Amino acid sequence: MNAHDIPPSGETKPTATDLQRSFMRHLHYTLVKDKYSATKADLYLALAFAVRDMLAERWLDTQQSYYINDAKRVYYISMEFLMGRSLGNSLINLGIKEEWENALMEMGIDLEDIAETEWDAGLGNGGLGRLAACFLDSMATMSLPAYGYGIRYEYGMFYQKIIDGGQYELPDNWLRYENPWEFGRQEHLHKIRYEGRVVESSDPAGEVRHSWVDTHDVMALAYDVPVPGYGNETVNTMRLWSAKSTREFELESFNRGNYVGAVESKMKTENISKVLYPADHMAEGRELRLRQEYFLASATVQDIFYRFSKKHDDLNLLPEKVAIQLNDTHPTLAIPELMRILLDEKMLSWETAWDLSMRTFAYTNHTILPEALEKWPVRMLEGILPRHLQIIYRINDCFLKEAKARFPEDSDRLRRMSIVGEEGEKHIRMAYLAIVGSHSINGVSVLHSEILKDHLFSDFFALWPERFNNKTNGITQRRWLKCANPWLSDLISSTIGDAWVTNLDELQKLRAMAEDRDFQRQWTEVKRANKQRLADYIYRHNGIQVSPDSLFDCQTKRLHEYKRQLLNVLHVIARYNRIKANPGLNVPPRTVIFSGKAAPSYFMAKLIIRLINAVGEVINSDPAAHDRLKVVFLANYSVSQAEIIFPAADLSEQISTAGTEASGTGNMKYALNGALTIGTLDGANIEIMEEVGRNNIFIFGMNAEQVEGLKRAGYHPGDYYSHNQELQQAMDMIADGTFSPGDPGLFKPIVDNLLGNDPYLLLADYASYVACQDEVDRLYRHPHEWTRKSILNTAGMGKFSSDRTIAEYAREIWGVKPEKVGRHSRRDLP
Ligand SMILES: *Cc1c(COP(=O)(O)O)cnc(C)c1O
Repeated sequence: MNAHDIPPSGETKPTATDLQRSFMRHLHYTLVKDKYSATKADLYLALAFAVRDMLAERWLDTQQSYYINDAKRVYYISMEFLMGRSLGNSLINLGIKEEWENALMEMGIDLEDIAETEWDAGLGNGGLGRLAACFLDSMATMSLPAYGYGIRYEYGMFYQKIIDGGQYELPDNWLRYENPWEFGRQEHLHKIRYEGRVVESSDPAGEVRHSWVDTHDVMALAYDVPVPGYGNETVNTMRLWSAKSTREFELESFNRGNYVGAVESKMKTENISKVLYPADHMAEGRELRLRQEYFLASATVQDIFYRFSKKHDDLNLLPEKVAIQLNDTHPTLAIPELMRILLDEKMLSWETAWDLSMRTFAYTNHTILPEALEKWPVRMLEGILPRHLQIIYRINDCFLKEAKARFPEDSDRLRRMSIVGEEGEKHIRMAYLAIVGSHSINGVSVLHSEILKDHLFSDFFALWPERFNNKTNGITQRRWLKCANPWLSDLISSTIGDAWVTNLDELQKLRAMAEDRDFQRQWTEVKRANKQRLADYIYRHNGIQVSPDSLFDCQTKRLHEYKRQLLNVLHVIARYNRIKANPGLNVPPRTVIFSGKAAPSYFMAKLIIRLINAVGEVINSDPAAHDRLKVVFLANYSVSQAEIIFPAADLSEQISTAGTEASGTGNMKYALNGALTIGTLDGANIEIMEEVGRNNIFIFGMNAEQVEGLKRAGYHPGDYYSHNQELQQAMDMIADGTFSPGDPGLFKPIVDNLLGNDPYLLLADYASYVACQDEVDRLYRHPHEWTRKSILNTAGMGKFSSDRTIAEYAREIWGVKPEKVGRHSRRDLP
């Protein structure tokens, strides 16, 4: 690489000329374009390459510091990383955004305009993947020696198109254009084995040893992505694995003259990293998914060994030098994979291997929904991972012995706890494997962690109470306030200083300003400008004109029955009917905004998307509702779209059935940007209420205990239907084709499902929800009161920084400490 146009970090900031020179050098020499041939995408790439140069020194220094100081590392393994765009975030974390804005402006280039051309890195479905991305930002900002490990899917989360009101999925070919943020590392490649058979033998000491032979192999190739910290010298690594066929060919095929066939079958193995499974909260029992999970687990564990072995040959040091966090059960095969290597390759005894492994792994649970809990058929594991199945069986035998010693005579309990489930097809319960193999098991909000202990994992809690803990989720304020909402960030910083960027508790200082009329006015002006920006976006994408003076009521998240978008729709229809029945009705105008993807195979979720669009069609074209109610469904919810929505929201809908949403993080992003929450006592909503104050949040509906009670007593949704006129009218309209005149029966399954069993208790919470929405209307008529509460919401969000979450993981689970990055000379060649 060329000598640097831009002075390295730690020194004075580069001048506009430095930046322009670097930009032009990349445009001319990296991209070979000039002002006549450069497209907007070229300008973006030239800027990205120039910014990337500024990360390089720190990245090398960071990795060398970790190596020299032999720091304990934390490995965050996740099947999903929902990163979004990198450019804006890198500029902010490098503290160089304004300088670049000005340097480009002098050249007649608008930074925001070219930044738009970056494709989202959408390697995740929703909350779980976005959490992993927020954690990477916090770990780098807090100078922790951390790595994110995932899969470099060729196709990320599908692109959602709405046609005739329904969802269509298009492939997200995000690598079609050059990705300037990744570095292929041809030298970091590991062999991943599948299938084959296990051979037993005795070693000289008489111990039984196993070798796994005749396997079919795939190579895992590393791609590294830099993760810069904010305002420090740290640049961590996210390493994503890509599948590549091995170079060896099966000679047999050649000998049979089947050259093309042999090459073809080799290429098929590259399918492993082809596509992200697009179902959120829904375990897919597909063989390809199992292969993906093992691919990630094996490549990562081998890489961890490789790094560990550069400094150590004493494997007993493993738990002192390595902490591995499993983001849900998806990477749990890392446990038997580590065991396999310790036993079969490092020749350790079972007891030693198990002790080291247990002390290395920790597991985060993200859901209690039964359909999301992973179970792999024993038959499938037997074929694809025969050695791992043996190891899992032995783990289970040892575990059941321990459990039996503690609970003799309780065979019911032992059957319940077995890692091997016998109902239906024999299967492996991945959550139980993760629990048995980890020293720490955590939930992601106080309520969720209590439910794990009291219900889902109560037998395990009885056995090992000390393993269970809570780590309430968080979000990074760098992306979700500083980057996404620069106007509010500037107002906050000019009022209380900018220490909140790395210490979100500082936002408390805004409490003193909540009643200050001048501050309120500025706060409202910022919100209004953000609403105008979203209104423009809505007009551009949906052709619907909405007023920035209406209340922006937003529910943006994956489409799932438990999240109850349908409850929101029922309220919208009831509100519409009220306006129709009483044309003079004086209600504050509202714009109800939805966005979210449904899993492609999730019939009911897709039908609800159709319903939202159909209801919008009717309401938006009815002059009677004009100026008082609009309904918008924004296509293709993604990180970059979310960055436009959160700053513009007045009201945040967090209305899941109590006890079903593990934490939620969308709730935090909204409140951080000054939206008021209407929500149930579910997940982190409870903790948000505690932080912002009961009077500054709209809480409705049953709590988790009441939900349990009602289900136990016997729930009869029909009773709510017959006793509530408004509800009945809304449901009848859905059922009778009011919103689908061309196909009157289209939405009937929705109503049938509600009256039939209503598993998420929408009807039971309906009256309370609508009454709470009336409260929202009343408050919105008092702009000063509303704004005061809005300020108090932002002011109360300190706890929900992912910096706080990560500090807790680091101290209580990982035992890792910040590692200062030193400057290292690179004058010598190897
Ligand atoms: C934050 C976020 C989510 C998670 O939202 P929840 O409301 O917590 O389900 C999902 N998708 C994107 C793009 C996000 O930014």
